[in-house]
Amino acid sequence: MARRFLFGTNFKMNQTPAESAAFLEALAGAVVIPDGAQLFVIPPFTSLPAVTDLAGATNSPVWIGAQNMHWADAGAYTGEISAAMLQALGVDLVLLGHAERRGLFHESDRDINRKVLTAFERGLRVLLCVGETADERAFDVGGETVARQLKIGLHDIDPARLPLLQIAYEPVWSIGAAGVPARPDDVEPMARLIRDVVGERFGEAGRDVPVLYGGSVDAANAAGFVALPDIDGLFVGRAAWTVDGFRSVLDASLRERFGRSIG
Ligand code: PEP
Repeated sequence: MARRFLFGTNFKMNQTPAESAAFLEALAGAVVIPDGAQLFVIPPFTSLPAVTDLAGATNSPVWIGAQNMHWADAGAYTGEISAAMLQALGVDLVLLGHAERRGLFHESDRDINRKVLTAFERGLRVLLCVGETADERAFDVGGETVARQLKIGLHDIDPARLPLLQIAYEPVWSIGAAGVPARPDDVEPMARLIRDVVGERFGEAGRDVPVLYGGSVDAANAAGFVALPDIDGLFVGRAAWTVDGFRSVLDASLRERFGRSIG
C-alpha cells in the first residue's frame, strides 16, 4: 500500500489566536488536498482553542497540533500543559522533541520518552523530532545521535500505538534562520537509518512509520526531498508561515509526489 504523504508547519512562538484562525480559514479556500495526503498545522498554545473550534465547526481535514506537552496528567508544574488539556481542546497531534525544546529548554531524551509514553497512553498522535547538531555531524556521529534519540524516545512504547507515530528528521544545523539547507543526499541516508532503527525495534510496522524531513524547506528545494524513497512528507517552518508560502511549498511537493498541482 502506498504510504501517505504528510505536510505541515509549526508556527513556533508566532501568531495571535485571530491570526492562526485566519490562516486555517484561508488555507481551506486555497488548497485542494488529494487523497493520500494529510496536512497539519501546529500553532502556539494560545491559538489552539480558536483553531480547534474553527477546525471542528468547518469539519476541517487538517490535523491541529500542539508544540509540546508535559508527561504528567496534572500537578505542580507551573507553565506546563497536560495531554488531557490538549485533548479537551480537540488537538489531533503533539510535537515532541523539537530541536528548540531539546536545545534551548534542555529537554533530555528521557523527558521526551516520558512525554511520548503519556501521549500514546492518551491516544494522541505524536510527531517526534530527531536530528544531530552541526558538531555531531562534523565528528561523523550524526547517525549515533539520531539512533540514540529514537531508542530512548521510543523506549517501552506499546507497539499497538505505532500508528499514532510520525517522525521528523530535522538536522539542527539545517533549521531556522541560521540553518544551512540540507541536500537530499544528506537526508536519504538518515531517513533510511530512522526506518532501520524503528524497524529493528518494531518489525515491519516500525518500517512503515512515516518519516518527514524538516529544515529550511522552501518551494525551490521541496521536490528534491519529496522524491527521496524514504521520505513521506515535509515539516516546514518559515517558508509556510503565510498561506501563500504554505501553498507554494505544498504545490511543489504534490507535483513531485502525485504529479498534480493543488489546483
Ligand atoms: C523547524 O524549526 O522545525 C523548521 C523546519 O524550521 P525552518 O523550516 O524554518 O528551517
